[in-house]
Amino acid sequence: MRHCRFIPLAFFLVLVAATVFGQQVAAPPPLAVEHVTVLPMTADGAVLVDQTVLIRNGRIASIAPSAGTRIDAAVMRVDGTGKFLMPGLADAHVHLENDRLLRLFLQNPAIATGTIHTEDVLLPYVANGVLQVIDLSATSETVGQRDEVESGRVVGPHIAMAAMIDGPDPVWPVGITRVAATPSDGRQAVRDASAEGYEVIKVYSRLDLPTFTAIVDEARRLRMPVVGHIPQRGKHLTAQFFQPGFGMVAHAEEFAQQTAVPAEADIPRYVEMAKSNGTWLTGTLSLDERLLEETAHPETLKTRPELHFLTPPLYAMVTEQNPYVQQASPQRLAYLRAIVEFNRKLVPAFAAAHIPVLAGTDTPVPGMVAGFALHDELEAMARYGLSNRQVLEGATRLPAEWLGVAEDRGVVAVGKRADLLLLDANPMENVANTRRIAAVIVGGRLRKRHELDEQMRELAQRYRQSRPGTVTSLHDGTPGP
Ligand SMILES: [Zn+2]
Repeated sequence: MRHCRFIPLAFFLVLVAATVFGQQVAAPPPLAVEHVTVLPMTADGAVLVDQTVLIRNGRIASIAPSAGTRIDAAVMRVDGTGKFLMPGLADAHVHLENDRLLRLFLQNPAIATGTIHTEDVLLPYVANGVLQVIDLSATSETVGQRDEVESGRVVGPHIAMAAMIDGPDPVWPVGITRVAATPSDGRQAVRDASAEGYEVIKVYSRLDLPTFTAIVDEARRLRMPVVGHIPQRGKHLTAQFFQPGFGMVAHAEEFAQQTAVPAEADIPRYVEMAKSNGTWLTGTLSLDERLLEETAHPETLKTRPELHFLTPPLYAMVTEQNPYVQQASPQRLAYLRAIVEFNRKLVPAFAAAHIPVLAGTDTPVPGMVAGFALHDELEAMARYGLSNRQVLEGATRLPAEWLGVAEDRGVVAVGKRADLLLLDANPMENVANTRRIAAVIVGGRLRKRHELDEQMRELAQRYRQSRPGTVTSLHDGTPGP
C-alpha cells in the first residue's frame, strides 16, 4: 500500500512542476455564447441567427439554435443578444519585436536584453481582436515567443513564422535575414529554416532569378508556403518570378515598383501573372497611406493615440528620428502618392479576377501599430472596392487556408479553435464594426472589453513612464509630458 500513496503524490508533484515551470496551463472553463448572430466566414456565406455557441477545452463544441439548447449549470454563459460572433482576425504581414530584432532594425546595440516583453508586444494584437499573425522576419527568438503562446503561458495570436532570405548585400542585416548567393545556398537556407521550425519562406528583393527559383522549388518540396517581394525591380523580369510555389506577393506596391514609375497600364498583365500562377496578394494598403500621411503631415505622429502602444525604443524612433519624415521631399511625396493611386487600381482588379487579397499591415514600420493598423487595413480594402465579405474573409478564413491551418482555425465551426470576436455591431454591414469589440475569446478564454481596456491603459502608462526624459509629477503620480 505504501508505494500507492506515493504515486498520486508524485503525479501531483509533476502537475505542480508542470504548472509552475510552465509546461501546461489548465484548460479554460466551458463557455456558452447565447442568442448570438454567428458569421462563420465559411465559403458558403452562411449567417446563423439566434445561436448558442458552446466552447469546451478551447474549441467550439457545438453551434445550435438557442431555442432548444440546454446549457448545464457548470458552463459560464455570455448573453450575445444583438451581438455578432466571428473568427478572430489575422494580420498576414507583421514583424514581431524582440530585443535582437530591435537592435538590428534600429541599429542600436545599446538596447538591453529584457527591454522587450512578449506579453506586451502581443497585447495590442489581442485587444484589437488579431489572433493570428504571419511574422515575415521571424528569428530564433520568435520560436520562443510562438511556444509561449501555444502553451498558453502568454496570451497572444498564433504566430506563423517566415524565414526571410535575401541575396548578397541584403537590404536588412543578417540576423533579420538569411543570405543566399547561389541556388544551392538558397536550397540550404530553406532546409535550415524548415529544420528550425519555420513554416513559411519570405523571399526578398535582391535574390537573383536562379536562386529565387531554387528557393521556391525547395520550399514547395518541403510544403512551405512562400511569400515576399518580387526581386530585381525594374529589370523586366517580373513574369519570370511567377513560378509554381510563389504563393503570395507581400505588398500591392511590389507591382508599382516593377517599373521606374508605377505603370497602371501593366495591371492587367500583373493580374494574369498572379491568376495563372495561383499567387495571392497581401495589400498593405494602409501602410502606403500612412507613409504618405506622416511624410506630408508629420504632426500626425504627435496626435495618433495608438502610437502610445509602441514599445519605447520604437516610439522614440517613430516620433523623433522617423526616416520617412527626415527624407521627406516633393519627389518622395509625389512617388508615395503615385503608389497609393496605383494600389487603388491594382487591388480591385485582383479582386475582380477572384485572386484572394489578404489583410496585412507591415507593423511596426513607422506609423503602423500592432492590432490598430489591421482595422485601418480592413477599411482601406473596403474603400478600394472589395466587398465587405471579401475583406472579412481576407482576414479570417483565407489566411488560414494559405497557411495550411484551415482544419484548425479561421472559421466559426464545430471542432475549430475558439479564437473569436464578439462584436456590438455587424461587420458585414460595415467592416469598421470590427473595432466594436465587446469581448475577445482567445483559445476559449473570455476577455471582456473592460478587462482589455484596463490592460491597455496599464501598458500605455508603463511605456510612457519608461521613455527617456519623462518626468513623473510629484503630486499625483500622473506621468508628465
Ligand atoms: Zn514587412
